Amino acid sequence: MTLKQRSYKAFDAIRLSFQASPLCTVLRILLSFIYAIMPTAALAVSTADFVDAASAILKNGRPYGDIFLPLALLLAVLGIYTNIGAIIELINARINLSLQQKLKPAVVEKQTLLDFKHIENSDSWELISRVSRDPVKAITEGFAAFMTFMQIIVNVSALLILIAAQVWWAMLIVLAFSIPMFWLSMRAGRKNYQAGRDVEKFNRRTEYLNEVLIGRDAVDERTLFGYGEAISQLWQEQYKIGWMHQLKVTAKTFLVTKGSSMMISLIAILIALTLISPVINGSMSVGMFMGIVSAVFGMANQIGWQMSSSLENISKTTEYMKDLSAFVELSQADGAAALPDKEPISFEKLEFRNVRFQYPSGNRYILDGMSFTLEKGRHYAFVGKNGMGKTTITKLLTGLYTEYEGEILINGTELRQYPASTLKALFSLVYQDFAKYYIPLSDNISLGDVAKQTFGGISKRELENAAVQAGLSNTISMLKNGLDTPLGKIKENGQDLSGGQWQRVAIARSFISRAPVKILDEPTAALDPISESQIYEEFEKLTRNKTTIFISHRLGSTKLADEILVVGNGKIAERGTHEELMKAGGRRRDWF
Ligand code: ADP
Repeated sequence: MTLKQRSYKAFDAIRLSFQASPLCTVLRILLSFIYAIMPTAALAVSTADFVDAASAILKNGRPYGDIFLPLALLLAVLGIYTNIGAIIELINARINLSLQQKLKPAVVEKQTLLDFKHIENSDSWELISRVSRDPVKAITEGFAAFMTFMQIIVNVSALLILIAAQVWWAMLIVLAFSIPMFWLSMRAGRKNYQAGRDVEKFNRRTEYLNEVLIGRDAVDERTLFGYGEAISQLWQEQYKIGWMHQLKVTAKTFLVTKGSSMMISLIAILIALTLISPVINGSMSVGMFMGIVSAVFGMANQIGWQMSSSLENISKTTEYMKDLSAFVELSQADGAAALPDKEPISFEKLEFRNVRFQYPSGNRYILDGMSFTLEKGRHYAFVGKNGMGKTTITKLLTGLYTEYEGEILINGTELRQYPASTLKALFSLVYQDFAKYYIPLSDNISLGDVAKQTFGGISKRELENAAVQAGLSNTISMLKNGLDTPLGKIKENGQDLSGGQWQRVAIARSFISRAPVKILDEPTAALDPISESQIYEEFEKLTRNKTTIFISHRLGSTKLADEILVVGNGKIAERGTHEELMKAGGRRRDWF
């Protein structure tokens, strides 16, 4: 299943279900139709038949045997009616499963193909999260809402036809009262939905505060700073506002729904009263009277309670579909989901020629005429104050943004000419906010060379080597199952690591990688300058003769680099060895 680029409407909930599971969707619609028609067409008529047969036996002395057929019919209808609901539930479960297997992967696939700028932009990221959170739930709820709406319409129409066939003018009365009821329920549904969106804003805030209060990420700082009480207070305030908002909405909905349901019940009584005279003058049988009256009360209940919630859900689905339409429109990047090449190309030279770049959502050039050349087998360091554009250079190098001016040449060929898979295999990157994967340590490391892992497999020995090189020997001996120990606490036998140990795991990923250019983008920023220098020194030693790029905002950490490039004002402001730059340090201090 793929998500086509077009404008999706609420009705697409049914279309998408059909694409995922055609047979079950058709069955579901058919059964819902039968379920809708039964209370009036079958139940009312068979009740009428049964009551009329019974009274004929009692009054006119017809043989007792005449009751069997109407009784059997009534029981059969009741049996089918009560079981059909359960069958619909089963089919729903099946549709749900198919959507999980087909729609969810389609949404995930689209997400992986997206242009990186959408991931970094907070607005489009919100849209992406809204759409991807639970697409299956949104579709199944939309589908169910349409079915309920259809059932109400079918039920009411069937009832109207039945009444019209008996006493035509009674139908006009029902119609006159039903139309305002429909309108009221629709309004209630819409209002409810709008109010729900307002409440959602508060819910998001309380959810966030809740995470800060009890989540694992903030546990250390929570204990150290002791801000628990203050945040708890804030959470309570937000929760109260959200709760009051919700209460108002619920009370209003309750009043409108309950009010309309009571009015509909009054109408039902009115209809019952209206039908008494045809019964007395003999134009309607007592059985038919009972059948119709019980069907009218059933319908009153359905309109009162289900109508507004089904309309509310249809409105919700409409909103979701608007989001989905915008999501599928988001531009994709060629090769975003591609695996790195099986074999990396060899690296000779990298050259930035007068490169200018601004972020799509930004309004200034972050790189503004940047030029430099890097050569094979040397160790480089990019230094400069935070926010100067050092990470931006790596984003251009790895092809995440391709809308730059000037030229970036790799081995003399423009970077944009290389497929994404080649760039992915050429650079290995350890980011400042590297990810912590709660999977076994060995898998954590082998992610550093997905291509090899996928095509040939990485031996245990290679993994061990990478771990040892990254300084993880002590860590491995501390873990219960060595390399096979699941990290993090989400598994029973999992073990958590310290911040520094996680850093080393991220660096081990870089060691296992066969990428000819290794970049460390301040994965050590959280460490003190001495520890940072230590890690860089170890890395330097282990990557002798390889091309490496260190990024740091501290000049001191990069003393071992063959050459240091100082980034400032969107350019390379200065270039030289540590010694050379230190000599000029008095004049150049403002660069760090
Ligand atoms: P450094 O690595 O030197 O600390 P960065 O390259 O991360 O700096 O950022 C350089 C500038 O670009 C900063 O001012 C930052 O705010 C801005 N920036 C980074 N990412 C984005 C983005 N996705 N959209 C807009 N501006 C961005």
